[in-house]
Amino acid sequence: MDAGLLGPKDVRDICAALGVMPTKTLGQNFVHDGATVRKIVRDAGVSAGMHVLEVGPGLGSLTLGLLEVGATVTAVEIDPRLAGALPETVRARQPENASNLRVLLQDALGIKTPEALEAATPAAPGGDFSAPITALVANLPYNVAVPVLLGLLEIMPDLRTVLVMVQAEVADRLAAGPGTRTYGVPSVKAAWYGEVARAANISRQVFWPVPNVDSALVALTRRPVPPAARESVFALVEAAFGQRRKTLRQALKTHYGSAAAAADVLEKAGIDPTARGEQLALADFVRLANAS
Ligand code: SAM
Repeated sequence: MDAGLLGPKDVRDICAALGVMPTKTLGQNFVHDGATVRKIVRDAGVSAGMHVLEVGPGLGSLTLGLLEVGATVTAVEIDPRLAGALPETVRARQPENASNLRVLLQDALGIKTPEALEAATPAAPGGDFSAPITALVANLPYNVAVPVLLGLLEIMPDLRTVLVMVQAEVADRLAAGPGTRTYGVPSVKAAWYGEVARAANISRQVFWPVPNVDSALVALTRRPVPPAARESVFALVEAAFGQRRKTLRQALKTHYGSAAAAADVLEKAGIDPTARGEQLALADFVRLANAS
């Protein structure tokens, strides 16, 4: 059933052949379950001809699942041993799709423009990577998941849909709404780019090595950015949550120069100065930024 995808033995064998000891620092937990891979590809809505960005392809578990349905994949991997071996893994398992993959050896946090991806090397001649990248599908390295996700959404306006696997707590935080314990800076910033939904939990048992945290999927569907300057909104969000137990009047004191000035702007935006940041929705922060 999993012809072309990586099973538990494949994952161990490839690591052994490459001399790779998976590291926590790089969040190297590799998926070895074809059903999980196919679920991610299906839930992400990936279909033939789509150009998908994958961050952290690792041994290629998800990459093979994306290629299997006919997608074109640009993959960004920081580990030179993994980036170097990926084309060969694909050629060995899905030779017919090898030309639909290109790999960039790079820290995803260092990608500052979509053009940076053009330095990726095709796995085999003949691929067409000219279509815009419209989807991000990845099992993200957990320690950099949020900055990688938000950074790519900011620089890649063609990115319409995202389905990423992250640490379950991060999935909760990204998808949280106002007034909840997990609501915070990542929730508001992610909402700036689109509608975020917490999706399925993923069992620890589908990874090698087995991680010591739970994992979950998060989906984001792009919507038009709100009518405000992003930098102003994000600065307010950071100030408001920087001291999340304080009233907004106090938390925004430094931002506006004084508590009285903060209260004035808050009232102008129709926000109670004694409210706390965690009660504000993205739309409130947008109004506040525009009232400043
Ligand atoms: N996609 C593979 C899978 O599902 O089995 C591997 C996922 S593993 C959780 C994360 C991958 O991201 C590893 O291959 C790791 O080397 C890579 N990685 C870690 N930090 C990175 C970064 N800053 N930029 C690009 N890749 C990174």
